[in-house]
Amino acid sequence: MEASGPCVPARHPGSSAVGEFELIERYFRSPAEAPARQRGDVVLGIGDDAAVLDMPAGRQLVAALDTLVEGRHFPAGCSPHSIGHRALAVNLSDLAAMGADPAWFLLALTLPVAEPVFLEPFAQGLLDLARPYGVALVGGDTTAGPLAVSVQVLGSVPVGAALTRSGAAPGDLLFVSGTPGDAAAGLQALLGAQALRGAPSSPHALTLVQRFLYPEPRVELGRALRGLASACIDVSDGLAADAGRLAAASGCGAQIDAARLPLSEALQAAAGAERGAMHALTGGDDYELCFTVPAQRRSELEARLTNVKCRVTCIGSIEKQSGLRVTQDGVAIACDTRGYDHFRAAG
Ligand code: ADP
Ligand code: MG
Repeated sequence: MEASGPCVPARHPGSSAVGEFELIERYFRSPAEAPARQRGDVVLGIGDDAAVLDMPAGRQLVAALDTLVEGRHFPAGCSPHSIGHRALAVNLSDLAAMGADPAWFLLALTLPVAEPVFLEPFAQGLLDLARPYGVALVGGDTTAGPLAVSVQVLGSVPVGAALTRSGAAPGDLLFVSGTPGDAAAGLQALLGAQALRGAPSSPHALTLVQRFLYPEPRVELGRALRGLASACIDVSDGLAADAGRLAAASGCGAQIDAARLPLSEALQAAAGAERGAMHALTGGDDYELCFTVPAQRRSELEARLTNVKCRVTCIGSIEKQSGLRVTQDGVAIACDTRGYDHFRAAG
């Protein structure tokens, strides 16, 4: 807790608002205790000044942090349960891209008023996702202000086994998991419905909205790619931009064949094949993995994928010449490969 000074505006919580200590206790400390005990490596969790964690021998710590800001990463009025889910999911996705085993996470929560109508489903969404991955909440910070959620996730890999963006070589095959483009189309459907003060009604639109609200981090896939993928990145800013980043980090270029993009049935029904492909290439928020595997190891990849519950599609290859080329029937097509940039003017 920080001291409040003259610059801190007085808070006028509603009658159901809870205090800071009660909030931490009720929504975060109590529910986090059992998972922390279960892991056995949380020496000290929530409640002291910092957490104390046992690092497994022979492994390296892998750390990532991502922030979600209301009105920037999710629209105002978004379901609190999905905000909780996404805040952890986007971080688990970063660890998945490194091939890491997630272990612990910390939560920095900034919210205008501490009301159970928000906190209850928010904490549920966060912990509902933490449970199946066995990650324990071990600390955080709680402050008043405009709604923003930062999560830091910590995990580990065997020494030297982390996947990186920089190991791809010309000739490697380029793969993507899941069905990219759904989340961007879902966000568009959500905003369109909000503008009309309604809710998306077609089953396809609802499917796409769910894909935006509840991304599935590909932790299992990332782990299966250790020692096999030459490079890996998670797709948060658009497939073309992120594949381009992987290629650039590897000192190469990449080619994506638009006809091979795995478009979901919902995306094709809602946007058509052509616009669907553009959503897949340039839309953000997918949290799929984009990775490369040397061509001669393709059957090894297929063998490993039999144990992973997610679709993986070969969409192109790594090239010597820098830059990202998108082709359709062998002909280059125009595609914005810049991806989302918070500080670049829209347009
Ligand atoms: P300090 O003032 O020493 O930073 P705080 O009062 O902020 O302590 O936090 C007390 C304890 O509660 C710490 O262990 C901290 O990690 C934890 N904590 C605070 N906010 C959260 C939160 N939103 N989620 C999880 N743990 C939290
Ligand atoms: Mg603090």
